Amino acid sequence: MSANKPGDDRLAVAVIGGGPAGCAAALGLARAGIERVALFEASPSARSKLGESLPPDARPLLRSLGVWDSFVEQGHAPCLGNCSAWGGDSLGYSDYVMHPLGPGWHLDRQRFESWLLDQTAQAGIGVELGTRLVAITRTDHGFRLDLRGPNGPVQRHARHVIDATGSNARVARLLGADRRWLDRLFFTYGYFVPPPDTAVNRLTLVEAVPDGWWYRAALPDGRLALALACELQTLREQRLDRWQPWLNHLAQTRHAATGLAGSLFLKDAMTTMAAPSFRLEPAIGDGWLAVGDAAGAFDPLLARGIAKALEDGLEAAQVVARWLQQGECDPAAEYASLLAARFQTMVFLRKRFYAIEQRWPDAPFWQARRRASSGVTALRTERAKPIPSGSDSKPVLRQAMPRPAERR
Ligand SMILES: Cc1cc2nc3c(=O)[nH]c(=O)nc-3n(C[C@H](O)[C@H](O)[C@H](O)COP(=O)(O)OP(=O)(O)OC[C@H]3O[C@@H](n4cnc5c(N)ncnc54)[C@H](O)[C@@H]3O)c2cc1C
Repeated sequence: MSANKPGDDRLAVAVIGGGPAGCAAALGLARAGIERVALFEASPSARSKLGESLPPDARPLLRSLGVWDSFVEQGHAPCLGNCSAWGGDSLGYSDYVMHPLGPGWHLDRQRFESWLLDQTAQAGIGVELGTRLVAITRTDHGFRLDLRGPNGPVQRHARHVIDATGSNARVARLLGADRRWLDRLFFTYGYFVPPPDTAVNRLTLVEAVPDGWWYRAALPDGRLALALACELQTLREQRLDRWQPWLNHLAQTRHAATGLAGSLFLKDAMTTMAAPSFRLEPAIGDGWLAVGDAAGAFDPLLARGIAKALEDGLEAAQVVARWLQQGECDPAAEYASLLAARFQTMVFLRKRFYAIEQRWPDAPFWQARRRASSGVTALRTERAKPIPSGSDSKPVLRQAMPRPAERR
């Protein structure tokens, strides 16, 4: 997957990270006619990441990247809107029937990531998988990159660097930037296979509960994804990273567990993950900038992370193209203020959504969200690390709940 000649180590732009933001930035640079661009991705192949809801406004972004027709051919599942029990017991609906851009999608995330990397390589970008940036040093002409590739350490030089390493913000932090934290939720995802011929609900469902909120979406491969967002302390105290307490918690919901009886629960596929909300400070510096989650991560409640990553990537590509072609500095300032405005909008929307839910004023989860809604309050240094899921629970499932699958 490499379009650059072997040994051609002087790059115009190095994109570090091959998620949606990195691929969008690299594609944007290719579309702007910038040559000698390479993308370095730490994983040897596209990873399956959590988060599959893509809103309708991703459509113009995919068009701008020149990949819309190919995206449609991928056959991801349409998402016809959202329903939520939030601030009350009954479900409220917001469907995409009247949305000017049409429906959104529930993605097969691994296929989406793999397809984006393929599109990037096909656009002429050198995509180097299994290659992790471990150090970065400023030089007279840009940056020296120390990478660890499939065959050992590699050194490359680049005039500009785009940090697309996700919430790790690896490049920016090596260059001295810091993350200003707003919040950190923990998610435990589980997957169900409904019986054949079950009618599929193509709406995303969100249900607030005293400990947090549940999310449910139908994936293109027929599985149902269910996730609980909660506090780390709740997760630990109630062992919610283990299948049995997690299923018991789900069974207490009014809507999220509806219609799951008879489904197969894939207990070995359970995953727990931190979802931080923060902004990077600064997100742009001399010769480098950050995109996507590296520049700032949003609360998954807003389901905006992937679209924002594509948007950041496209805009960053324009900034870097103008740096290279015209030596302009102004677009960089524009990009920085755009990121700041987008983060403020996220803070505002998040505050508004969490304020609607008033049923459990004393519950730690809702109290913590209200505290976090008051803005970027604290600077913490923990990293968002996956927590290994437990599997030693005893089988005392409620009868109404589906049977967990044997190890597959
Ligand atoms: C639980 C959860 C649920 C979510 N749900 C949704 C949702 O429904 N809808 C939505 O739109 N968003 C959702 N999101 C957010 C969404 O997944 C992210 O916003 C999106 O993936 C950001 O894309 P990115 O390219 O910036 O970062 P990432 O997708 O994280 O990609 C970063 C890439 O950089 C690579 N990398 C890291 N370090 C290095 C290094 N040193 N060298 C080389 N490569 C490196 C990584 O391997 C990775 O592939 C969710 C997030 C979480 C945690």
